[in-house]
Amino acid sequence: MAKNIQAIRGMHDTLPQQTPLWQYLERQIRAVLKQYAYEEIRTPIVEMTELFKRSIGEVTDIVEKEMYTFDDRNGDSLTLRPEGTAACVRACMEGGLLHNQTQRLWYQGAMFRHERPQKGRYRQFQQIGVETFGLSGPDIDIELILITQRIWKAIGLEGLELQINTLGTLEERTAYREVLVDYFRQHLDRLDEDSLRRLESNPLRILDSKNPDLIELNENAPNLMDYLGDDSKAHFTTLCQGLDAAGIAYVINPRLVRGLDYYSLTVFEWITDQLGAQGTVCAGGRFDGLVKQLGGKEIPAIGFAMGLERLVALIEAHIDSDALRTIDLYLVVMGEAAQRHGMVLAETLRDQLPACRLQLNCGGGSFKSQFKRADKSGANYALVLGDDELEQGVISLKPLRGQGEQQTVELDKLAELLNNEVLA
Ligand code: ATP
Ligand code: MG
Repeated sequence: MAKNIQAIRGMHDTLPQQTPLWQYLERQIRAVLKQYAYEEIRTPIVEMTELFKRSIGEVTDIVEKEMYTFDDRNGDSLTLRPEGTAACVRACMEGGLLHNQTQRLWYQGAMFRHERPQKGRYRQFQQIGVETFGLSGPDIDIELILITQRIWKAIGLEGLELQINTLGTLEERTAYREVLVDYFRQHLDRLDEDSLRRLESNPLRILDSKNPDLIELNENAPNLMDYLGDDSKAHFTTLCQGLDAAGIAYVINPRLVRGLDYYSLTVFEWITDQLGAQGTVCAGGRFDGLVKQLGGKEIPAIGFAMGLERLVALIEAHIDSDALRTIDLYLVVMGEAAQRHGMVLAETLRDQLPACRLQLNCGGGSFKSQFKRADKSGANYALVLGDDELEQGVISLKPLRGQGEQQTVELDKLAELLNNEVLA
């Protein structure tokens, strides 16, 4: 027999045991975004490869080695989106959303990166992200951080650390880059292979290295902060003051440079120590140059993205996903007339009690086997409708999780009773 086909490495199913936790997380995040009046944008999963090369940058990890790129039947090079920002900018330009107006947007979706799969790092993963356009900050920078903080609160996450930094403007970074390359050149013997490669292409990324042997070298490296102009410095100072005023604790991490080329000024990450090496649950920053880089006008922009798998892993510990899964009622139907009427009754109850989670027994079965299914369904109560009951215009309500006695109810009083006792 042929071997069963399995999911692609690094890509996972979300089974019904887990979906309630995902839905809970998504619901909470959406509710917060709604509070701040952000609007949703949806873009395709595939884009022209050129879009990512031009936006993310040719010499980044993503474009160099992580993209799922293929030629379609017309010979166009397409790529499964590795992140959401590039497509969001493209869609806003194409849809005319950037002419003399501001935008505060959010998106959700699967992203694809050919990385080495491990806990918290997958080849298909989910992000919810926010992008704003036309606002140069730092007030909006602070708002974004406030949004994330409110999301952590909504899902009961504590102990995340906020790290912030500033990358200055492109000109300031270019000047700093030369100083930095000079510094690393004096210590070539201490650089690892990755860093040697980055020295030419993307030297700031060396600062971000996870290699413990580089910690000391990086700590002693020249500091970008010393190469910033007055405007960049003021932007950062105001950001810090705003966070102080809002009572948000943060750590300034001069080595936080982010992986993508298009960032400028404010960058930030929320980090946990509970997920090992994959500790960043949310990362964001300002990308004032990107719209122009993609052929538009110079429009300031800032955004962030959260990795939902990492957030699910964190909330799993304190959120009872079984409780999110329970259903309220399982309707047992014994006898031919009761079976026929059961469907009608179930529909009537769904009209009367829209919030009630009701499962109707389908496929017949003995009394015993229907009760077994009722129990397995996770329902809190069983409703039992037999032909005799139907004739008398009543139905039985039986608690399945040990809450009280079975009772017989008149059918026309059922909705009211369920509303008061079962759904209360
Ligand atoms: P990392 O340093 O962990 O590789 P990154 O800088 O590549 O992250 P971003 O591109 O900023 O990540 O994406 C934002 C968030 O999306 C990350 O902070 C993380 O929570 C999540 N994320 C990124 N890559 C993956 C992945 N391969 N699997 C699961 N989540 C991911
Ligand atoms: Mg990465």
